Amino acid sequence: MYTPTFDYYRPKTLDEAIALLGKNKGAKVLAGGHSLLPAMKLRVAQPAALVDIGRIKGLSAIKAGKKEVKIGALTTHAAVAASAELAKACPILCETAAMLGDTQVRNRGTMGGSLAHADPAADYPTVMIALEATMTAMGKKGERDISAGKFFKDLLTTALKADEILTTITVPAYRNFPNMGGCYLKHRHPASSYAVVGVAAMVGLVDGKVGRVSLAVGGATVNPVRCSAAESALVGSAPTDDAIAAAAAKVAEAIANPMSDLYATADYRIRLATVMAKRALMTAAQRAM
Ligand SMILES: Cc1cc2nc3c(=O)[nH]c(=O)nc-3n(C[C@H](O)[C@H](O)[C@H](O)COP(=O)(O)OP(=O)(O)OC[C@H]3O[C@@H](n4cnc5c(N)ncnc54)[C@H](O)[C@@H]3O)c2cc1C
Repeated sequence: MYTPTFDYYRPKTLDEAIALLGKNKGAKVLAGGHSLLPAMKLRVAQPAALVDIGRIKGLSAIKAGKKEVKIGALTTHAAVAASAELAKACPILCETAAMLGDTQVRNRGTMGGSLAHADPAADYPTVMIALEATMTAMGKKGERDISAGKFFKDLLTTALKADEILTTITVPAYRNFPNMGGCYLKHRHPASSYAVVGVAAMVGLVDGKVGRVSLAVGGATVNPVRCSAAESALVGSAPTDDAIAAAAAKVAEAIANPMSDLYATADYRIRLATVMAKRALMTAAQRAM
């Protein structure tokens, strides 16, 4: 299939890109093109213009500090998977990126594109919720930070305004903190690798007990959800198999309106989420020791 016709712009600066988005009603940002172009070929998306941000400098750096890591929105999945800084400070992201799509998708697709697209079956959104990441967007009114919890609004819908560009994602450098571990697991669709269900768990131990935990499930609902009942059940306990299984049994409480489709029924997705939450929490707790 061919895409509908569209105007194409290739700005050299962020300001120029933002001005182009403001001037061209119905324009869309083009990053790696690995979600947008298939959608255009299927005529699901018909933007009047594309603003290609691929040549704008400074949007694909990974900068690790003591407490946090800043990742440019144009950083490809392959660069995230191979990043020595992230492997040291926030390895859950390398783990996630390495299992995303195939080589071609990882070489072209970007972290910012994946987050801005907000596909329910995408991997990064779930991990960003568990990491309590912050997205920084730039628009004509300047820069603003949006917490991951407020970023994903609905199916393929985020808090970004039409003339805003996601520039940076900030995540905690959790391996620099004592006794913190993380794990992302997914039940992958065999053809596309997208997550039928994906689970991200972060566990922090204090004196052998769970001091803090964040658990997020993606793929089961239109946006990833935080499983607060499961988290509360685990805090204060030693991370034993029984305590983790009891917490994971509460995951279903977070999944309102589960999706049901050709690949998995709603009930199957809830069962997958429960089993995978148990495994992800166990691995995160082991990594925290
Ligand atoms: C065969 C195949 C398999 C895949 N498998 C997986 C998988 O297993 N897991 C997974 O998570 N994903 C998967 N993907 C999706 C892939 O990760 C895409 O790369 C990603 O979703 C979109 O990133 P992109 O850079 O290609 O964005 P684009 O396609 O260029 O853009 C996507 C959307 O985001 C907007 N956008 C892009 N960048 C910005 C920005 N900086 N600021 C504001 N808006 C922006 C665009 O306007 C568009 O609406 C797969 C894709 C394909 C084609």
